[in-house]
Amino acid sequence: MNNIPEIFGSMVFNDNVMRARLPKDTYKALKKTIESGRHLEKDVAMVVASAMKDWAIEKGATHFTHWFQPMTGITAEKHDSFIAPDGHGSVIMEFSGKELVKGEPDASSFPSGGLRATFEARGYTAWDPTSYAFIKDDTLCIPTAFCAYSGEALDKKTPLLRSMEALDRQAMRILRLFGNEDVKRVITTVGPEQEYFLVDKAAFLSRPDLIFCGRTLIGARPPKGQEMEDHYFGAIKPRVSAYMKELDRELWKLGVLAKTKHNEVAPAQHELAPIYSETNVATDHNQLTMELMKRIADKHDMACLLHEKPFAGVNGSGKHNNWSISTDMGKNLLEPGGTPEKNAQFLLFLTAVIKAVDEYQDLLRITVASAGNDHRLGANEAPPAIVSMFLGDELSAVLESIEKGTAYSSAEHKNMETGAQVLPHFQKDTTDRNRTSPFAFTGNKFEFRMPGSAVSVSGPNIVLNTIAAEMFMQFADELENSSDLQGDIIKLIRRTLTEHKRIIFNGNNYSDEWVEEAGRRGLLNLKSTPDALPRMLDEKNIALFERHHVLSRAEIESRYEIYLENYSKTIHIEALTMTDMIRKAVLPAILSYETELSGLVKTKKEIGIESSLEEKLLVRMSALSGCLYNKLTALEEAVIDGRDKTEALECARYNHDSVFASMLELRTVCDELESMMPEEKWPYPAYAKLLYSVV
Ligand code: ADP
Ligand code: MG
Repeated sequence: MNNIPEIFGSMVFNDNVMRARLPKDTYKALKKTIESGRHLEKDVAMVVASAMKDWAIEKGATHFTHWFQPMTGITAEKHDSFIAPDGHGSVIMEFSGKELVKGEPDASSFPSGGLRATFEARGYTAWDPTSYAFIKDDTLCIPTAFCAYSGEALDKKTPLLRSMEALDRQAMRILRLFGNEDVKRVITTVGPEQEYFLVDKAAFLSRPDLIFCGRTLIGARPPKGQEMEDHYFGAIKPRVSAYMKELDRELWKLGVLAKTKHNEVAPAQHELAPIYSETNVATDHNQLTMELMKRIADKHDMACLLHEKPFAGVNGSGKHNNWSISTDMGKNLLEPGGTPEKNAQFLLFLTAVIKAVDEYQDLLRITVASAGNDHRLGANEAPPAIVSMFLGDELSAVLESIEKGTAYSSAEHKNMETGAQVLPHFQKDTTDRNRTSPFAFTGNKFEFRMPGSAVSVSGPNIVLNTIAAEMFMQFADELENSSDLQGDIIKLIRRTLTEHKRIIFNGNNYSDEWVEEAGRRGLLNLKSTPDALPRMLDEKNIALFERHHVLSRAEIESRYEIYLENYSKTIHIEALTMTDMIRKAVLPAILSYETELSGLVKTKKEIGIESSLEEKLLVRMSALSGCLYNKLTALEEAVIDGRDKTEALECARYNHDSVFASMLELRTVCDELESMMPEEKWPYPAYAKLLYSVV
């Protein structure tokens, strides 16, 4: 199994398989659908289904499923076998065009945020031919979009596909301005870098907080965390290496371009990055990657944690969303290029993105808002909750020269001819990467660094595509009838920069000065999920999504409800898990230790021995355990009081301000008690055991 080219994509019904197995005209018709999004004819679907089934059965598949991405954030599948009775007591294997193209799962058990009540209970899944079918666990998986019967999107794929179409429509207008007639389609590309933790399965299973919440709710800091900075890019332990090898191989079989793997900053933290692909495919592949990470960890007697903050005191996990725009011929439109004419096009695209990020800071912030990611944003490991852009010194200087109308000279090209200063020739940026920026231009792509490790990249990319489409539209509207294109482009770029350069910040985003400076610039600082989410309903945001046919008002409202509910449910489950762990295991352990200590004090006193150590310990333990009990009761009461909050936003705010705040207070006391107790008397494995559990 070491022949990678041979195993790569071996479980995928990809272009090569299609070409080899489909009649020529069927293949052509399908290709057309894939490339232009045109409707697929019934008879074509029938032939494709039959070929797909034969191929899948040869690969050992017995079932098929419509694989979709409901608003739970993970993927869903319901398996049907290929069998059909032949009427003589045996079965034949069947799979029709209708079964390929459309499914009708019961939508009522998936989050719909009120859409079900307004519309119909039933939902249907529709084949997305732009993402290849694949075989996983002996099941032919058909990537599908999931909608209500009335057409409202109930999933994360439908609006993503719509946003890609919107971007294509508007970016093509910009390309035509520059006389570009060959390009048929503009796509966006994404490479999501995925961080994760691995812990030993036995340790994982002894922590209800990890099982139910994916993160530790209590746990005193270990003597050694990440301060020695010896884990990042360190040698990979054999057990982890074996895991990564199997993960790579399984991903390759599914056509996922797994490329880079390394240890991350925190102990037990790792990263996997694929080679980028078209956004829709990259999103599907990232979902598959997360699923396989968990499944393969289990096989290796480990648990993979995708939560954004499994452990306090060490880094949490993010998912850097590298995003760019490219033509169907593979030309990256965010590549600066070598000549001023090309630069004009590049600079126009770049300026559009600057304006987009400034005007829609709130939407970008919302796409990364979750209870889990609230632990990261603003902590000293991830960008703050303030959206800003890093362009690097060179590009910033270029833009400044355009804005001010002054001559630009790069370090290497000191002697630029005059006249070229308006659209200067410049090289790809060579400045150091800024690792603290939430949205950094990295040579020929943007790296959006705010998403948390658990999020589907669909959300961030829906917004990126849509806000970019909006600006391309505005620019094209302004420039299409221009009689002095060059001059008007410069004017437009200049004006846009003046109005939106406040979003550009090349300094240290982790510093307190930046938070103040951002405030002066009027940039948003939406600290928590309940702070951020209500902005979804701003009229400007609803209008944006409706204008580009990405989400309707009803769809936005339903998503808003779902995100709020999700936030509240997460905090609720965490609070219940925490009170349960403390009441049922921590308190009894403390009481038994206190009993032991007081017995010792008593015995020593009886036989006339000084017992100052035990007494001191006992006094301190009693004070703390009393405090623990008070905080525990306070949390329990906060949870109960929250039950009558029925309005979704009020409930989320309450969970943030009261329940979550009580959890933090309770944890502080609990962790202090843990650090005073003998390890074998504490009911849960300590951080040191968890973080160093994989040896
Ligand atoms: P960096 O050094 O900034 O981390 P890499 O070249 O290692 O850059 O790329 C990081 C991620 O960005 C990878 O997943 C890579 O495939 C992806 N990437 C590179 N170019 C593009 C692009 N044009 N569009 C989207 N993602 C890209
Ligand atoms: Mg990176």
